[in-house]
Amino acid sequence: MIVGVPKEIKTREYRVGMVPAGARALTAAGHTVLIETNAGAGSGIPDSEYQRVGAQIVKSADEVWSRAEMIVKVKEPIAPEYERIQNGQIIYTYFHLAGVDPELTRTLVKKKASAVAYETLQMDDGSLPLLKPMSEVAGKMAIQVGATCLEKAHGGKGILLSGVPGVRRGRVAVIGGGVVGTCAAKVAVGMGAEVTLLDVNLDRLTYLDDVFLGRVATLNSDSETIARAVREADLVIGAVLIPGGKAPKLVPEALLKEMEPGSVVVDVAVDQGGCIETCRPTTHDNPTYTVHGVVHYCVANMPGAVPQTSTYALTNTTRPYARKIAEMGLVEAIKSDRALARALNTYDGKVTYEAVAKDLGYDY
Ligand code: NAD
Repeated sequence: MIVGVPKEIKTREYRVGMVPAGARALTAAGHTVLIETNAGAGSGIPDSEYQRVGAQIVKSADEVWSRAEMIVKVKEPIAPEYERIQNGQIIYTYFHLAGVDPELTRTLVKKKASAVAYETLQMDDGSLPLLKPMSEVAGKMAIQVGATCLEKAHGGKGILLSGVPGVRRGRVAVIGGGVVGTCAAKVAVGMGAEVTLLDVNLDRLTYLDDVFLGRVATLNSDSETIARAVREADLVIGAVLIPGGKAPKLVPEALLKEMEPGSVVVDVAVDQGGCIETCRPTTHDNPTYTVHGVVHYCVANMPGAVPQTSTYALTNTTRPYARKIAEMGLVEAIKSDRALARALNTYDGKVTYEAVAKDLGYDY
């Protein structure tokens, strides 16, 4: 199969859909890999690294799109890319079709393209392995950015999370103990902070209690407990997810007012509306703002700040499926793998993912 990797063109997107290890796996199996020149530059991967493993560097996005049978990307195609999509082409990337320009879905349907979406590749237990690495990155970053915001020069109260001998440690409250929350707790514990983690799922709390060996206080997430934890915290991390729904507003504005001035909230759940009432999306260019004396960090695409880590984390999980599609062809690959079958959002002129079809008014 001819597999093409264009350079991402969305603003401030520095990730790339394939790293040299992925290109090597495909070329070694006899496939052709086309990489647009400089596609890996934002992630610190020069063209020569791809050439070394047998990939061909091509000069333009047009050439990649027009020659490849399968395109491997990071973000959904955006307007300038619509006309490059070829009839019947396989496109393997994040799509979020229900949330982006509906014209993209119309184009995919019209061109009978096969949209294989990272975000809907779902295992039988409901987990979403191609979303997980970005949650890991965001969770680990949350403490790093929160610690920086706590510094006086950044508007914070001037507390070092780790404390020093004779001086209290910083207090961190993490609301939501899934992938983001667990990674945040890990880093906070590693920095020496005093960490409280709240979740509604008692089985999850039991697991976390075991793995953190008493270094994290686990609490049931109800309004009373949240209020106490938030009032006492120097840093609050919002990390809840209601699958398919908006994040519940677990920290109302009235509670935020009770936090000490210079405290910090990092609402990682901002991409689902946020779980802190005063949260609104910010960007890496201007990541924070202050409400009632509390510094808010609410960047909706946190992994974009660390493209090298994010690219490798993402491609570690996407690579085996790209390889499977190249080896078996899309139809056979899907027949053999239920998780991959769930990733198919459009095929042969139809929308093949129920939630997307319903949202956008297509037959399913
Ligand atoms: P997850 O499903 O692994 O974990 C969510 C957790 O929230 C679960 O353990 C669930 O039990 C818990 N929860 C649900 N309701 C709760 C409540 N009322 N109180 C406390 N806990 C509750 O999800 P995740 O992968 O950790 O993602 C968390 C959020 O981070 C999502 O909104 C996700 O979209 C977002 N996210 C944002 C970025 C970013 O760049 N801002 C990056 C990755 C993920």
